[in-house]
Amino acid sequence: MDSKEFREAAISSIDEIVNYYDNISERPVVSTVEPGYLRKLLPSEAPEDGEAWSDIQQDIEAKILPGITHWQHPNFHAFFPCATSFPSILGELYSAALSGACFNWICSPAVTELETIVLDWLAKLLGLPECFHSTGPTNGGGVIQGSASEAVLTAMIAAREKHLRETVPSSLEGDAREDAIALKRSRMVALATTATHSSTKKAALILGVRFITIPVTSTTSFALTGSLLTAALASCRARNLEPFFLTATLGTTDTCAVDDFPSISSALSTYTSDPTSPGSLWVHIDAAYAGAALVLPPIQSSTSLPSTATFHSFNLNMHKWLLTNFDASCLYVRDRAWLIRALTVNQAVYSNSASSGGLVTDYREWQIPLGRRFRALKIWFVLRSYGASGLRAYISKTIQLGERFASLVQERKDLFEILTGPRFALTVFAMRGGSEEEANVRTRELYSRVEGSGKMWVTSTVLEGRFAIRMVTSVRTTEGEDVERAFALFVEFAEGILGGEVG
Ligand code: PLP
Repeated sequence: MDSKEFREAAISSIDEIVNYYDNISERPVVSTVEPGYLRKLLPSEAPEDGEAWSDIQQDIEAKILPGITHWQHPNFHAFFPCATSFPSILGELYSAALSGACFNWICSPAVTELETIVLDWLAKLLGLPECFHSTGPTNGGGVIQGSASEAVLTAMIAAREKHLRETVPSSLEGDAREDAIALKRSRMVALATTATHSSTKKAALILGVRFITIPVTSTTSFALTGSLLTAALASCRARNLEPFFLTATLGTTDTCAVDDFPSISSALSTYTSDPTSPGSLWVHIDAAYAGAALVLPPIQSSTSLPSTATFHSFNLNMHKWLLTNFDASCLYVRDRAWLIRALTVNQAVYSNSASSGGLVTDYREWQIPLGRRFRALKIWFVLRSYGASGLRAYISKTIQLGERFASLVQERKDLFEILTGPRFALTVFAMRGGSEEEANVRTRELYSRVEGSGKMWVTSTVLEGRFAIRMVTSVRTTEGEDVERAFALFVEFAEGILGGEVG
């Protein structure tokens, strides 16, 4: 493909993408293909000779789109959204054009410097404490990771190394030091709650450290409190275990619960000031989805962000709810030296005078992979195209859609019961029943009828034995009428179930 052919192909691809978005609501939300559908449609080997773009492009509609579940569809109410927007897509286009493995500053200074700048912009927009700004008093800062799971794993690596550095006596050397580290590692525990996303458990699994969950219940609205944490820390101490990492969550996956940051913060200060405690506990805040709502100042205040200045790291996926397409998971640390100490492994081939001069950031030292993409560009485009006011307007609109949905559910108390929310555009609800078992049977049936209809996509969860439906209203294309139609469908199926149509 030469540049003339590229221009024609790109124009025609952009036309097709615009048409896709303009008509997305006419497509079924969830793909209906059978497993293995694509192998039947494609040759068993790559073509020997190159093909014309027009032939390749045709296969997008004919072969690929049938196997796509449309996350940007207005009737996509499942999981959390996977954001995108036109400025973000343009950012990806430029990023692909300027492709490089920009792991050191010198590999493309703009890639590194723009990342530091936009992550500071974002930190200010979210009202994060100054300790997370690159210019803040504690030498903190942000770095873009591929996913929240990667961000949690990266933070846990830094926490593990920090804990070992602070608790293994510096007088030990050689084998004695290695033995002491091995012994300590066998006692180190990562903590999370029963509502924390599974990525913390996975990070502990990858790092080979113990993992303990603190049960949270409806009594605390599925949030972690200082007193639950204190009890968990005491129980670890009684078992001679060393908690070194905790994930606190702003917006849990099941219900969007927000852990009680002020009381966790004061529990922590008591714990770390106790001379019998075996080292400080790194607290990571996972705000993968709901962190986006911090663009709204009232949510910043109600979330008690100042207390989070005592925590060590924070992550937010712009690719969930901030109009930036996958992948853009922003990880902030209070002191970047923790990441750099844990993740710097030098090799002669990567040394250069800019790095050894010490005035530049080399983001390879803040992450697991070496190479990295130019992801800051799409964030820059989004922040500039929408502006803070545009982002606030979008987040507010989707929260209001959630409130509208919840008020419709409240109006049909004869059919439904809200279990949690509306919180951050998520309402978790169930059908009523004479007993919990009957309610569960009805809700499962409602869920399967909605799924079978192909008209929208929602996901389910189980809260203290209650089967429940999660309805999320934060996809960019969703409007009020979509939410009303969704509710009407729930009512139609629920009335059908009560009318005896089960089975
Ligand atoms: N944390 C929370 C609260 C989530 O809801 C999710 C996924 O929805 C994750 C982490 C994992 O996100 P990722 O796919 O970016 O690893």
